[in-house]
Amino acid sequence: MKQNEKLELNILFRSVIKKFQSRCWICKEKYNENIAFVLHHRKYLSNEKIYSDFKLSNNKPDRLSYYRYLIPIVKLDPNRFRLLHHKHHWMAENWAMSRPARFERTVIVAREINKRKFNGDNK
Ligand SMILES: [Zn+2]
Repeated sequence: MKQNEKLELNILFRSVIKKFQSRCWICKEKYNENIAFVLHHRKYLSNEKIYSDFKLSNNKPDRLSYYRYLIPIVKLDPNRFRLLHHKHHWMAENWAMSRPARFERTVIVAREINKRKFNGDNK
């Protein structure tokens, strides 16, 4: 991505991040333009375009065109979205790949590990 495109992308994000307390919803760290963030859809509308609808001529994702499309939608209806680090969005996407029963058992195992690891430290 060219420098002017990165700048535009950052301006687009900066125009909505306050609607999300400027923080990743999962880890609560503040927005930082040097770290990849996404706007996660909590709910899609039936006629809405998705990220994979936006491709460059070389067939790679066209992130800037996607966010030019999405940001006005986020401004109108921020409750349908969450601001997340890209890495935390991927973490959730990976968990969500499992069928519901496996997913629930994965959550149980993760809670067991998490409890052992952090021993009640809930910061
Ligand atoms: Zn995060």
